[in-house]
Amino acid sequence: MRESKPWLRHYPSEVAPTYEYPKHNLARLLVDSAHQFPERPALYFLGKKLSYRELLHASYQFAHVLLDLGVRPGERVSIMLPNCPSAIIAYFGTLMMGGIVVMTNPLYVERELIHQLTDSEAGVIITLDLLFDRVQKAKSRTDLRHVIVTSIKDYLPFPKNLLYPIKMKKDGAKLDVTYGDGVYPFKKLLRAASAAPICVDVNADDDIALLQYTGGTTGLSKGVMLTHTNLIANTYQTSHWCYQVQPGGDRFLGAIPCFHVFGLTVLLNQAMYRAGMLILIPKFDIDMILDTIHKLKPTIFPGAPTMYVALINHKRVKEVDISSINVCVSGSAPLPLEVQERFEELTGGRLIEGYGLTEASPVTHANPIWGFRKIMSIGVPFPDTVTKVVDSDSGEEMPIGEIGEIIIKGPQIMKGYWKREEETAKTIKDGWLYTGDMGRMDEDGFFSIVDRKKDLIIAGGFNIYPRDIEEVLYEHPAILEAAVAGVPDEYRGETVKAFIVLREGMKLSEKDLDVWCRERLAAYKVPRKVEFRQSLPKTMIGKVLRRQLLEEELKQ
Ligand code: AMP
Repeated sequence: MRESKPWLRHYPSEVAPTYEYPKHNLARLLVDSAHQFPERPALYFLGKKLSYRELLHASYQFAHVLLDLGVRPGERVSIMLPNCPSAIIAYFGTLMMGGIVVMTNPLYVERELIHQLTDSEAGVIITLDLLFDRVQKAKSRTDLRHVIVTSIKDYLPFPKNLLYPIKMKKDGAKLDVTYGDGVYPFKKLLRAASAAPICVDVNADDDIALLQYTGGTTGLSKGVMLTHTNLIANTYQTSHWCYQVQPGGDRFLGAIPCFHVFGLTVLLNQAMYRAGMLILIPKFDIDMILDTIHKLKPTIFPGAPTMYVALINHKRVKEVDISSINVCVSGSAPLPLEVQERFEELTGGRLIEGYGLTEASPVTHANPIWGFRKIMSIGVPFPDTVTKVVDSDSGEEMPIGEIGEIIIKGPQIMKGYWKREEETAKTIKDGWLYTGDMGRMDEDGFFSIVDRKKDLIIAGGFNIYPRDIEEVLYEHPAILEAAVAGVPDEYRGETVKAFIVLREGMKLSEKDLDVWCRERLAAYKVPRKVEFRQSLPKTMIGKVLRRQLLEEELKQ
């Protein structure tokens, strides 16, 4: 008979197959650490530290700010901020008073912002003065009653070039916010509020802590409902998986944004649970990252593959000692082997590939950090997480080694999509989350992702997964970054196009690339079209936007 959880054989001895997850308010991650280690630094931001005691105090105050404004438990509170202390204070304060956090990407343009705010029916937003104009313009078309503005001046000297690319001039943003009429300064509200301890009881399995918007598998961006239990479970699972040492002393390099669920769980919640210091980086800037590593010696650096690629290829990386970095978890996209090897060589630590999606809080799989791991694999399911590879239509389990859709069950799986029962029913069937990712499982229970169901290219009747080709392109010494997409083709229906960024000073002709690919790929997979570019469009987390490449292609 087929073994139901073959991966358990490869669990490191320190990791149990199952754990107990406490059923309480997610904000207790901070409360408990602050009670245990009040004077330890919790946050580091642009040269300043905030201790656990101070962060707890400010978060209590923020909870009272919301209550004083008439915000009720269960109401949605949007946080539209880059990585900075106000974002963390607003996050915990909202949870403490029973509100639902809606993380909002500071890069959203008005249209995206209106969609998210109206869909979530958020009554409050906390934002930055630099973004105020955009929020104010959107306000009248949403249910927003209160706009709380944190000022860039609070963080002076805040190097403006280190913010996300917020176009101040173009969209008319200005620093002088007109307060009054539902618009309040963050700092002033905080100062006037009570700091009496508050952390309301919740029904952790049912109450939503976070409404996290994601493109999902189809259509308009949807709100993923993550409960307190979902997020606590994933924080615990990650912690048990990654760290077998006692909490405390870890310094987390916060380069990924906390408004993405990967940053929220693997960075913020993790750092608070483990009473570590979270170094907040407002924008991924390699010089700043290298200077920070040199100065603060972070030990943990969760990131996306593109971040590691950028770092190992930067000319200063040889000058800076980055060996303090011990554990790195790469998620969001496939991690090329050479990147993993080079990074480990430079740091002496471990960089492992993991996998997840917003609908799963997000992490479900990872390679063991110190134990047996497999390259080109997302690893094995986390404790309490069960996975199968099935035929998407029939739900039948595929034989070992064959490609099918990856489906997952576990305590971190979302409650559903906000106000979208139909979509929820299509995504969660019999308690299984249908991920939309195609992959396979080997006889050891290690999984690998072949691609997203929707990224599949069908050229001349052949099924082609872009990742297969990207792996080959990444092996080429002249190639820095590569992405592959299916573009319309009169004859083959679709054909394979490669978008390539070359390393500085390197040359590569289309012909040589063709030879390289033909030696390594079946003929039908070899890119018929190639475009050399200066850069590839990416999401804030560093994931290449294949869809945008395709849209640009279609416009040509
Ligand atoms: P998001 O919900 O924005 O976090 O995106 C989740 C999606 O990212 C997954 O459904 C996968 O398609 C992709 N993804 C995450 N981790 C990996 C990985 N290690 N390898 C390949 N794709 C990944």
